[in-house]
Amino acid sequence: MSWETVIGLEIHAQLSTKSKLFSGGSTEFGAESNTHVDLIDMGLPGVLPVANREAFYKAIRFGLATGAEINQVSSFDRKNYFYPDLPKGYQITQMTKPIVEKGFIKVVTDEGEKEINITRAHLEEDAGKSIHDLFEGETGVDLNRAGTPLLEIVSEPEISNAKEAVAYFKAIRQLVTFLDICDGNMAQGSMRCDVNISVKKSDDKELGTRAELKNINSFKFIEKAINYEIDRQVRLIESGGTVVQETRLYDSDKNETRSMRSKEEANDYRYFPCPDLLPVVISDKELQNIKDNLPELPEEKENRYISEIGLEESEAKIISSSKAMANMFEEASSKTDDLKLVAKWLVGDVSALLNKDNIEIDESNLSPENFGKLIKRISDNTISGKIAKSVLEEIWESGSDVDEIIESKGLVQIQDESLLEEIAKKVIDSNPGQVAAYKGGKDKLFGFFVGQVMKETQGKANPKSVNEILKKILTRQ
Ligand code: ADP
Ligand code: MG
Repeated sequence: MSWETVIGLEIHAQLSTKSKLFSGGSTEFGAESNTHVDLIDMGLPGVLPVANREAFYKAIRFGLATGAEINQVSSFDRKNYFYPDLPKGYQITQMTKPIVEKGFIKVVTDEGEKEINITRAHLEEDAGKSIHDLFEGETGVDLNRAGTPLLEIVSEPEISNAKEAVAYFKAIRQLVTFLDICDGNMAQGSMRCDVNISVKKSDDKELGTRAELKNINSFKFIEKAINYEIDRQVRLIESGGTVVQETRLYDSDKNETRSMRSKEEANDYRYFPCPDLLPVVISDKELQNIKDNLPELPEEKENRYISEIGLEESEAKIISSSKAMANMFEEASSKTDDLKLVAKWLVGDVSALLNKDNIEIDESNLSPENFGKLIKRISDNTISGKIAKSVLEEIWESGSDVDEIIESKGLVQIQDESLLEEIAKKVIDSNPGQVAAYKGGKDKLFGFFVGQVMKETQGKANPKSVNEILKKILTRQ
């Protein structure tokens, strides 16, 4: 009997609100320690939290985009535990009545398409951060992050392997960034995930005992940690042991998981309704307003690119694969009329450079404005495609303005037909052998003449004009 893997993910997405979930403290990343801290975030007694409505609106967008039920009355509970980075001694979360329940998302893997059900998505506050490596023998606490709104997205235990888990995470990340509710920045911790894993024999009705891997924040590590953990559990059971329910830590240096603590049960946390906060009621009007203003989602974008702009399906897929790509395409498109050319360069040369450097487009030196201008300079014949390639490479390195590069390097395309004719004649005169062979029926040599003219002009001739001029001269001779 073969083993089956069962995985459920809890993804924490930091909602991109300006202020925190219950205070006016700023959520900006990277500020000096303990400078974005309100009295509420510090957990001082006698101050009362006020729920940030914008966080609810963002959570609702997620619910609507995943076909979920929206609880127009939802409430907050306290989850009690002690940790130095949690000064109140409890985290405010939504246990009994989350804002979002019962959604689903489509996930595409090599094996095809699958819908993964989302049990719930609830709002909760983030904790602060303990810093262990800054002070010798002491731990620092930075409360800047304390109270930052998180949307915890909990999947059903329906994911079947490591690749599917990564695809699910990617689909959630794509969705939250398109919805503009989370920046998706994994390096800064805007998205983190806990992975629950168990194994069972295929004909077992009951799920196996799970281990939970905490706070993994890269796609690569999710996949590796899961595969390690599956292997560990199967080997443990096959050698007569049993899996215990526990929280484990993934050590990426050693590529192994280690036990952190035995798994706590919900009642260990002494959950109870937060007496400081009333239930939050979302009116029909508010809900309708959010529905009416939902941003365009990846699939809708893809379809529109195909039907309205006439892009190839493969191009439309790549461009709508991330918010940053779609932005690049749409903003660059406002600078030129030739949208198909924008798409062709984005999917072709630009993507090749992205792959080479292994970066996302918003991490590159290419701004949408500069990219749009580059395409315009190709379509208005200022520069040839060949020159454009080198201009793009220059932008990639320096981020310089397209027109400045063209001007300072003297790259403007030769428009002067008589000059091109002169060069073409020179090429023909100095290659009598090839001319004779061409006339004798070796048609392929035509490309040779074009190449020679391009060489003479350092790529600055318009290939179309060169073709026409050469044809004219060669048939006349
Ligand atoms: P907790 O909040 O204590 O972590 P939950 O019951 O809310 O527990 O489940 C958390 C996650 O664990 C969910 O994503 C769920 O799908 C997943 N999960 C639950 N049981 C299993 C199991 N036996 N194997 C794998 N994943 C599981
Ligand atoms: Mg959990």
